[in-house]
Amino acid sequence: MMGALQRSSTDLDAKQAIAIEIALKVGLVEKCEQHGCVYDAMNDFAMEDAIRCGDALMTGNDPLVAPFGGNRRRLRHAIENVRTGLPNCCDDCYYSQHQK
Ligand SMILES: [Zn+2]
Repeated sequence: MMGALQRSSTDLDAKQAIAIEIALKVGLVEKCEQHGCVYDAMNDFAMEDAIRCGDALMTGNDPLVAPFGGNRRRLRHAIENVRTGLPNCCDDCYYSQHQK
């Protein structure tokens, strides 16, 4: 994993945003409609779907995955790491539930 931190953060953010987009499609991650917070859906089975979905988008030359420049390994890597650092639920919902 050497060198991962040397990539520019904007480049990383753009690719992570794409990975999240794909992960949302297949239910690997979920988004709180109320707060817009993306969280881990804790759905291990969806990982395969997400990778397959990413591959399909790549094959179809979908503009969504254009920033990866046809590099399937990088896309796959981004998808595999999409859950890293995500909470297990929407933080805002969690706190509002527990403040009542
Ligand atoms: Zn929420």
